[in-house]
Amino acid sequence: MEISLEQIKALLPKRTTLIFLGRDDSLEGFPDLMQRCIAENSFCVVSEDWDDWYLEQEYSSVEGYLNDLKDSLKVSFGIEEEEAEMGVLHFQDELTVEIYERDDSNAFMELINRTGKVSMIYSTGEEFPECYREDLEESLSRMKKILQIEGTKFDRELKAVLENSGYGGELEIFFREEFHYFVNEDGKEFEWITFKNPMVGIIAHGCGAGYAEELKGHEMTFQFERANLFVEKTVKYNYTFDIAGMYYDWADDTEVSVGFGEKECNKVEVSEQADNQKREKELTEKFNKTGVCTALDMDITRHKGSDLEYINSFPCGTKCKACQTFWID
Ligand SMILES: [Zn+2]
Repeated sequence: MEISLEQIKALLPKRTTLIFLGRDDSLEGFPDLMQRCIAENSFCVVSEDWDDWYLEQEYSSVEGYLNDLKDSLKVSFGIEEEEAEMGVLHFQDELTVEIYERDDSNAFMELINRTGKVSMIYSTGEEFPECYREDLEESLSRMKKILQIEGTKFDRELKAVLENSGYGGELEIFFREEFHYFVNEDGKEFEWITFKNPMVGIIAHGCGAGYAEELKGHEMTFQFERANLFVEKTVKYNYTFDIAGMYYDWADDTEVSVGFGEKECNKVEVSEQADNQKREKELTEKFNKTGVCTALDMDITRHKGSDLEYINSFPCGTKCKACQTFWID
């Protein structure tokens, strides 16, 4: 009996589902992936990686549908197993395409939507030097200008940030939000970002020091600069986890919103963090691949332990014999 492709297609379910997410599947454990989505303002990067994760499941689902089809053929046309198998085999490529086309699993978006709030940073791109007593007032007034603060209401908090941040660093705002809030799928770029009750701090990511305070009741708006937005776990020596060892929800009072259109806002400089992160990645790759360390790389884990030597005369510290990098005590 000659059975046409159309006749077989008619036996396929109208909708197929090729991917079933596991109960705990989400992007939670993939901060780098989230960061790439934010940086590129697109979910494409997820779908590239994602294809690999669920490929096998998709294959076996398709196989399942093809097997079911054989049974349906046998019943509908009263034919033998072998003949049904031949019929499906003959059109396997066309049927596979059809099964993919009918796939209604929205697993890709679901995976993204299931990913809860993550700790994030918005950098003002403004660097503050190490703060000495005589510079305090000047730094304070510069900080207030950047953070759009008039009057003395938050002087206590801001002075605490300046005095306790030790090594200076970048002025940053801390909050928690779902990463996909910052991906605008139609590609249009946000124009402003507003924070209410912001948690702000000065953080030196190079050496892992910093301090933050909440400005309760304050609201401020900046120009939206995508390069200044970070999933905190992707930033080396980040404040929440590496420096302060905070609970992940410590900055939950900070409310964040982004949008389009005219809004009075402060311009921001592009943060150097993105370049720093890139350099960090390159240094790690170099050391892991070649075992060769780099002069002035202050991450002691990227120098061989056997090259490190403690020097007990002034100035005390640790020295790498291979590249001469010195960590003063
Ligand atoms: Zn070294």
